[in-house]
Order: sequence, then structure tokens, then C-alpha cells
Amino acid sequence: MSARKRGALVVISGPSGAGKTSICDELLKRVPNSRWSVSVTTRPPRGNEVDGKDYRFIRHEEFQGMVDRDELLEHAQYLGNWYGTPRRAVEEALAAGEVIIMEIDVQGGAQVACRMPDSIRVFVLPPTMETLKARLEGRRTESETLQRKRLAEADGEIAFARSSGYYPYVITNDILKDSVDRVLEIIEQETSK
Ligand code: 5GP
Repeated sequence: MSARKRGALVVISGPSGAGKTSICDELLKRVPNSRWSVSVTTRPPRGNEVDGKDYRFIRHEEFQGMVDRDELLEHAQYLGNWYGTPRRAVEEALAAGEVIIMEIDVQGGAQVACRMPDSIRVFVLPPTMETLKARLEGRRTESETLQRKRLAEADGEIAFARSSGYYPYVITNDILKDSVDRVLEIIEQETSK
């Protein structure tokens, strides 16, 4: 990518199993000067997630304190757990001209759209609902009940993303490389405006 003068906030949303994390991992490798926004969450770590890297895993009281002190840029509840984006890290990264990449749900995406209208918001769709189901079932780190709940959320998330206007860009993640190339194109186009 070409040199960029100012920072950018890239929001990636989509149903669980659409492949958002794989896209974000590739973006972090390929977008110069990019950094991951480490969310805080009250959900327990799964698999080999690392505290402070994938998420900061905190207790509900601590999360509530952050909300009360207005330390979160956005926050939302998803399947009974709370998730939020610490505001300061985002502001510091933007001030330093970095590209900050965050993976958040559609409720959070809507809040970011209102607070930071210049953010670049991309919604990731699975090629088919069958693919989504298969990808979720492939996760060995979660119970079947939880997989079913995540799948049940998907329709509502997709409908919201399509109808709300908060996601100017909707991509279908069939082949990872193509999806990453498309998001790179979007970032390039948005940051050179
Ligand atoms: P998971 O439990 O699979 O890591 O995440 C569940 C959902 O919460 C996903 O849609 C994920 O994108 C979203 N999420 C992760 N971090 C945040 C955050 O900081 N804020 C919001 N609003 N959603 C988040």
C-alpha cells in the first residue's frame, strides 16, 4: 500500500464463523503501521487465547467501572457477555497516524459509526449459511449449545447490517485472499480521499 498521511479506524463485523479474525490477522500483516484494538470482555478465554493480546479478560465489576468512567468507545452485550473497545488506545493510535483494526459486533459498529463517522466499516458475510454452520461446528473450543446460539444470532446481525446503513461495505468471505485484497482496496480508497 502507498504511504498514508493520517490514521484510520477499520471496523470489521460479521456473524461468528464468517472469518473475521482470519481477515484481521492478514490485514495486520499487510497494512503498514496497523495495530489491533484489544477489546475488553467478560467472557472466559477459549482455546489458546492470550490475555492482553486477543482480549483483555476482565470481571464484570471492572467492565462496569470502565463504562461508568466513559473509558469505552463502544460496548455491547453478546450472548450474555460484555465486550467493549477501550477508547484511549484508539485515540492514541489515530493521533500517531496508525491504522487501528477492530473486530466488533454490529451493535458496537453502530456506536462507532455515530461517534466516528469517518471510520471504515466492513461487514463480512459467509458464502452460505451452510458454510457458517460448518465453520462453527469445526470449532473444537466451544460447546454445541454455544455454537447453536451463535448461529441463531447470525440472521439478525446480517439483516441489521444490510438495513441499518452503518456498513457501507459488505463483502462475502469465500476465498480468504480475495477478501483481504478487497478490504485492502477499501482502506486504500477511503484513506486517499
Ligand atoms: P467472540 O466471543 O467470538 O470472541 O466474540 C463475539 C462477538 O463479539 C463477535 O461478533 C465479536 O466481533 C464481538 N466483539 C469482540 N470484541 C468486541 C468489542 O470490543 N465490542 C463489541 N461491540 N463487540 C465485540
